[in-house]
Amino acid sequence: MDRTKLYRRFRTLLIANRGEIACRVIRTARAMGLRTVAVYSEADRDAMHVALADEAVLLGPARARDSYLSVERLIEAARKTGAEAVHPGYGFLSENAEFAQACYDAGLVFVGPTAEMMNAMGSKSGSKALMEKAGVPLVPGYHGDAQDDTTLAKAAEKAGFPVLVKASAGGGGRGMRIVRSAAELGPAIVSAKREAKAAFGDDRMLIEKYVDNPRHIEVQIIGDSHGNLLSLFERECTLQRRHQKVIEEAPSPTLNAAQRETVCAAARKAAGAVNYVGAGTIEFVSDGKDVFFIEMNTRLQVEHPVTELITGVDLVEWQLRVAFGEALPLKQDEIKLNGHAVEARVYAENPTKNFMPSVGRISTWRLPAETGGLRIDAGYRDGDSVSPYYDAMLAKMIAWAPTRDVAIDRLNRGLEDSDVRGIVTNIPFLSALITHPKVRANAIDTGFIERELAALTSGAPAPGELELCAAVAAIVNDERRAAQGEANSPWQTFGWQPVGRRQRNFALRVGHGPEQKIALNYGSGPSTLVIGERELAFTVVPKDGGFDLTLDGVKSSVAAVIDGHELYLRTRNGRFDLHWVDPFGGETDEQTGADKIAAPLPGTVVAVLAEEGAKLEKGAPILTLEVMKMEQTLRAPYAGVLKSIKCKVGDIVQEGIELAVVEASGE
Ligand code: ADP
Repeated sequence: MDRTKLYRRFRTLLIANRGEIACRVIRTARAMGLRTVAVYSEADRDAMHVALADEAVLLGPARARDSYLSVERLIEAARKTGAEAVHPGYGFLSENAEFAQACYDAGLVFVGPTAEMMNAMGSKSGSKALMEKAGVPLVPGYHGDAQDDTTLAKAAEKAGFPVLVKASAGGGGRGMRIVRSAAELGPAIVSAKREAKAAFGDDRMLIEKYVDNPRHIEVQIIGDSHGNLLSLFERECTLQRRHQKVIEEAPSPTLNAAQRETVCAAARKAAGAVNYVGAGTIEFVSDGKDVFFIEMNTRLQVEHPVTELITGVDLVEWQLRVAFGEALPLKQDEIKLNGHAVEARVYAENPTKNFMPSVGRISTWRLPAETGGLRIDAGYRDGDSVSPYYDAMLAKMIAWAPTRDVAIDRLNRGLEDSDVRGIVTNIPFLSALITHPKVRANAIDTGFIERELAALTSGAPAPGELELCAAVAAIVNDERRAAQGEANSPWQTFGWQPVGRRQRNFALRVGHGPEQKIALNYGSGPSTLVIGERELAFTVVPKDGGFDLTLDGVKSSVAAVIDGHELYLRTRNGRFDLHWVDPFGGETDEQTGADKIAAPLPGTVVAVLAEEGAKLEKGAPILTLEVMKMEQTLRAPYAGVLKSIKCKVGDIVQEGIELAVVEASGE
């Protein structure tokens, strides 16, 4: 095929994907001066990638088959918008040779390899045969055409148990079984074939020696249409759950320089065997010493940012330049390895409930700034919804540093400084994982997460004195912020003193645990917190995302978010989720007597429910205040006549202010 027809300059790029990868591709395409076209399903009307692109085309219903997987609708979207090229991202149709061909047939540039290259590398058996010919090391095993029981049994016997039975067409760990003895082989083949037939429409199997304590090591490669092919070092992706990567890093901490050169050379040989064009990944399994080819992915990978951070190369930019028909801008010896990068995949899922996906609206989305070596590739924003139709990956957090240890610490700090609410995320799990001593020591294999699951999901410790005090400080700080902008707000200076000394009581609990009581004393003199017998002096200095709490003479930084009654805190002891039991209870205040209709806390009047002059029963509603995002209705303290209402809807009222007067009927 004439490559000048395949690859040529274009001005408008359609991104046939969604979520973070669509956003990621749009960012670089825009920086290169291209016009970008997003596509979306009905579930993604308000998605971030749609907002970022210059144009967006509705493909169809939420179901991927009717939208992101519809070749016909994607080609039609390109035609409608005048797009000249298509970037497939990863997943969906990114490794689908028919899609690459359909783009070509429609006169579009496909940002990736040709359909022929995909076909050559698409089956594990086919690619292994190619690699064998090219002299790339393979795991001992069988990848021939004959599929009868005797051939497969002999192959397994020859490789030596344990073996892996793998679907040749497989992906995502499906159609794969570990077999530890000859007796297990027959049934394993039957069930793997059944799964492969259903998932891929192809039940051909291959047999591989199961590598003990396996590690996953892969090499990033990229080729252009002028015959240049480069490797951009390797990534280690050994931290997996159910054969899905969770944490990836570059370079691999397992390899020394000589092994690094060996694996990169093997990868170049592998890609060279098909004169590969575009970005791709050669995957190897390793026993920590040697590496064995397992498969090639003919697309950009989720974990490409770790490679970008250690090489300084924007892989999407290079993909686009290759698609323009340009030659790669660097030579192999100009690609330098600098420092270390680690990536964590942030998912909407619940690690304590078997990683069940979590769907719903994101009510808080606070991620740290991309400074100090931190990069965040996100596909969601505050207020977005996570739908049940697609992969639940929300974002990737990637940290770079000169050394692996510092990169891990930076990543952990970034995770700890993140707060996503409304849905459950795996952020605390990721923190626990990357700070695990065995991960730090690189004493891992692909089974590590499964083995350590209980320890990795055990959750936070019980809140101590610091956390209880921080919770009260967070509530007070939030109230003060709500009252800001009002002249003479009593909360503006802490220790405001209306009449004498006042006490406010708080009750907090974790989950359904016992209530823990804490009292705030304020008024004349410094404010104090009382827990049991202890009375502690404290001060609060607000800052972005929380405050500095000085407690008993020690200052510490607290990240805090309040969502209704739920408090999220991060202190030096970790993450804590607390429930504020009764924000309006326990107020002992000489000023706000039971008979007075006054604001219990600073708030906003959201409804006036009775008219002046109305006759009221005891307990009749008079007005509703919104306090701390909660509505509270103030009621008649006794039967009588509503003499006056001293506020209107929309007023921001201070604590203790009289809002209405009821004259007792005297009966
Ligand atoms: P899929 O395409 O379904 O993801 P792969 O062949 O890429 O399947 O394998 C997925 C994962 O399974 C690898 O990352 C590795 O952890 C593990 N694996 C694959 N082959 C072997 C093997 N021969 N021995 C041990 N582990 C393996």
